[in-house]
Amino acid sequence: METKTQLAKLGLFDAKVPRYTSYPTAPHFKNNVTPELFGEWISAIKDDSQISLYVHVPFCRRLCWFCACRTQGTASASPVAAYVETLKQELEILKAHLPPGVTLSRLHWGGGTPTLLEPGMMEDLAGAIFDVAPMAADGEFSVEIDPCEIDDARLAVLSKSGMNRASIGVQDFDAKIQEVIGRIQSYDITRDAVEMIRAHGVHSLNADILYGLPHQSQARITESVQKLLSLSPDRVALYGYAHVPWMAKRQQMIPSDALPTPEERLDLFETARKLFMWDNYNEIGIDHFATKEDGLSVALANGTLRRNFQGYTDDTSKVLIGVGASSISRFPQGYAQNAPATSAHTGRIRDGSFTTTRGHAFTPEDRLRGRMIEMLMCEFRTQNDELIETFGITPAKLQSLYQPLLQEFADMVKVTANGVEIPEHARPLTRMMARALDAYDMDQAGHSSAI
Ligand code: SF4
Repeated sequence: METKTQLAKLGLFDAKVPRYTSYPTAPHFKNNVTPELFGEWISAIKDDSQISLYVHVPFCRRLCWFCACRTQGTASASPVAAYVETLKQELEILKAHLPPGVTLSRLHWGGGTPTLLEPGMMEDLAGAIFDVAPMAADGEFSVEIDPCEIDDARLAVLSKSGMNRASIGVQDFDAKIQEVIGRIQSYDITRDAVEMIRAHGVHSLNADILYGLPHQSQARITESVQKLLSLSPDRVALYGYAHVPWMAKRQQMIPSDALPTPEERLDLFETARKLFMWDNYNEIGIDHFATKEDGLSVALANGTLRRNFQGYTDDTSKVLIGVGASSISRFPQGYAQNAPATSAHTGRIRDGSFTTTRGHAFTPEDRLRGRMIEMLMCEFRTQNDELIETFGITPAKLQSLYQPLLQEFADMVKVTANGVEIPEHARPLTRMMARALDAYDMDQAGHSSAI
């Protein structure tokens, strides 16, 4: 049977499944993770260890129609300045709980648009962060940079503060597509931003590009990928556009009749994927590509590639702390999410408390299933010897967890001497296969297309 027919038969073109950037996924978080428990988890971090820090800036100059991020539009600097003050207070509270000697293996500013901050605010924020914990010697400081919202003065501050990786969003370079998704960002603006970033000594570049956009055709995605390749990014994330206008109201502006079908989405992904492969990028997990020298390629080769909220990472820290409204932290004990609304977050920080509103404390089985899913998402295979040794389980218990996967995807998943493996032709099914290892009930409405 032709692969596409097999994929269709297994439901690829109809399924809605999580992206598995966490396990369990965020819709399963409950309100039993409190600010007090969050504080205990921070205090349990070992002295002198390395952690990661994520700082969320939920403001944008404009609200692009395609974007489902939780972010607020603002024309003035004052709400942003007030928010930076809140972040500084939150960092003070964090400092009071953090054990001594902790350093940052990764620092990431995301949003929203972190480059909306004025240079003075950036300097202030970076100073407050490094007062809590300095960067580790080989640490990585990355910032999401909006090519339309960046200038020399901001880049000078970021580079002086130690930024050594920049991340830019591209979506698609086609003018017609940009118009219907409400995000105008020409190739020239993007190229100028990249040149400016490199001129400030920041040499690692990430870029995001989308497939599945309205009016996107094979010719259009080919041209966009080629233009992106001309900028020589080190890492590319090729994400599927998730059209969920019932959740992200701005997407109602996007003509749904111009969207490609699920079968066309698969073809668009394949076209872009081949272009990256032909240009000598390594394929990283389900939707990333990286140059041979990039940290993700190195991590894939040595078995340390991991999945996190930003997709894939080579960071091996056990703790990721999220600062700012709606940020999610991950500890060996579980997940904790801050109050999603900026106003609620600010109010509680001003009262001197963390703002954790929900999360999830891991059970032993969560840890096991989470690692099995992570193995599939990172390496398209599981390794029973590692699972048995790490989690102290019996081979029989492990086999029982595989059963739903082996039953549902009998012809598509390969049983190996040390686990299971997803052959290349079945990789579009990876998120669905991960779903077969997920023990939680799923409401399809909250998830995006499997392809
Ligand atoms: S794409 Fe970027 S600038 Fe546009 S709304 Fe989303 S976060 Fe803001």
